[in-house]
Amino acid sequence: MIVIGSGPSGRRAAVQSAKIGKSVLVVEKGRRVGGVSVHTGTIPSKTLRETVLNLSGWRERGFYGRSYRVKQDIGAADLMARLHKTLDHEVEVLEHQFARNAVKTARGEARFLDAHTIEITAEGGEVDKVTAAHVLIAVGTRPFRPDYVPFNGMSVFDSDEIVDLPRLPRSLAVIGAGVIGVEYASIFSALDVSVTLIEPRSTFLDFIDKELIEEFVHELRDRNVALRFGAAVTSITLDARERPVCKLADGRTVHADMLLFAAGRVGATDRLNLEAAGLAVDHRGRIGVEPKTLQTAVPHIYAAGDVIGFPSLASTSMEQGRVAACHAFGLEPPPPPEFFPYGIYSVPEMSTVGMSEEEVRKREIPYECGIARFRETSRGHIMGLNSGMMKMIFSVKTRRLLGVHIVGEGATELIHIGQAVLNLKGTIDYFIENTFNYPTLAEAYKIAGLDAWNRMTRV
Ligand SMILES: Cc1cc2nc3c(=O)[nH]c(=O)nc-3n(C[C@H](O)[C@H](O)[C@H](O)COP(=O)(O)OP(=O)(O)OC[C@H]3O[C@@H](n4cnc5c(N)ncnc54)[C@H](O)[C@@H]3O)c2cc1C
Repeated sequence: MIVIGSGPSGRRAAVQSAKIGKSVLVVEKGRRVGGVSVHTGTIPSKTLRETVLNLSGWRERGFYGRSYRVKQDIGAADLMARLHKTLDHEVEVLEHQFARNAVKTARGEARFLDAHTIEITAEGGEVDKVTAAHVLIAVGTRPFRPDYVPFNGMSVFDSDEIVDLPRLPRSLAVIGAGVIGVEYASIFSALDVSVTLIEPRSTFLDFIDKELIEEFVHELRDRNVALRFGAAVTSITLDARERPVCKLADGRTVHADMLLFAAGRVGATDRLNLEAAGLAVDHRGRIGVEPKTLQTAVPHIYAAGDVIGFPSLASTSMEQGRVAACHAFGLEPPPPPEFFPYGIYSVPEMSTVGMSEEEVRKREIPYECGIARFRETSRGHIMGLNSGMMKMIFSVKTRRLLGVHIVGEGATELIHIGQAVLNLKGTIDYFIENTFNYPTLAEAYKIAGLDAWNRMTRV
């Protein structure tokens, strides 16, 4: 098996193939293995978030007030120090995993010569040729960089560049209220940077339950994050001091010290010479696959991870890599679970699994909701939490859990209790009958369960 790309899907496919005794080569053009996930995406953004929350004293502000800070004058160097240590550790663990499992790696850029042959060009120009029975395309994506955006690496960045910030901005404009834009906008606002979030559509994160989004928007507004929704950006220029100026279609202008352009990513497929293998891509450079097996139109060539599009998460990419490897070598992969969670590492964080209230209504399922506020839990009092909520949705007919939606501290961890109950087809009785550790935020499950149960038994 040749795996092109060492991100989450490539890594998991390589290790899975090696575990069943197959010979695997991972080709990676980057300086170090790990992919977008380790070097510019998931891990850097989450490390940055953790550093910001720690140094700013964010989690303690409920008790000590908004001006509380663990470190005064936080600078870019403070953020970078922890980032580099974390990334080094991630790469070391990955390299060790490859070595332990006898996964071979080659550094260079891969391109197809034919459906079984890959040419690898190293940084110095040396060229090598390799062949394999199976190929996995796990090349991921890169930021979409339209011509009208004056990227300069100084004051205008894409989402890969922002992790190497030379200095902290006084004010930041973020274009694109997708997951990445929302995460960075809220992280910088937690550092007391004045943030403007710009989105041409009038809604955002539409796959998340509306009630959660309302709660989230309320928190952003409370910290003076300016939301400019419903108007496209018509131009971006630089002023005399190289600061970005964004003109919007509704006549408004946004001035900022820095700009993050986070409006989409495209598949990193343009240099793969896919035609030589008999493959084509869509307008965003993505490759189509058979969803159960992850085979492309050429059956021995698989594709996994962000290059195949939705849901474009490190978590789901890993599973896709494993499924592709299992299928290639004749192993039956377990059926994919019905529901997987989404984690949005904004400040506050959000996580969701299963159906939103809007989806339940669309399907005309008779339902009831239960709500718990974190400030109702003893753990919430101890932690000084003023915000955070959990919403659970149950079927009135079957009593089954249909969806869990959480905004607030620990949401991305807490969600897994709901995920387990959901995928095991559990009912409201699980939450009513079971004892939860006390004091914990997980107690919110009990509170929300009882809230729904009270309404359902009244019906
Ligand atoms: C800012 C940001 C935050 C994110 N946060 C989260 C999160 O919190 N949780 C989550 O689950 N997901 C998150 N994601 C998404 C996650 O990073 C991706 O889903 C995941 O990295 C996709 O993995 P992949 O296997 O497609 O490979 P990628 O991680 O995209 O890596 C692809 C690799 O292929 C290499 N490559 C490309 N072309 C070639 C070639 N021709 N030859 C050799 N090598 C090549 C690249 O150098 C790269 O190393 C985030 C993404 C971004 C950008």
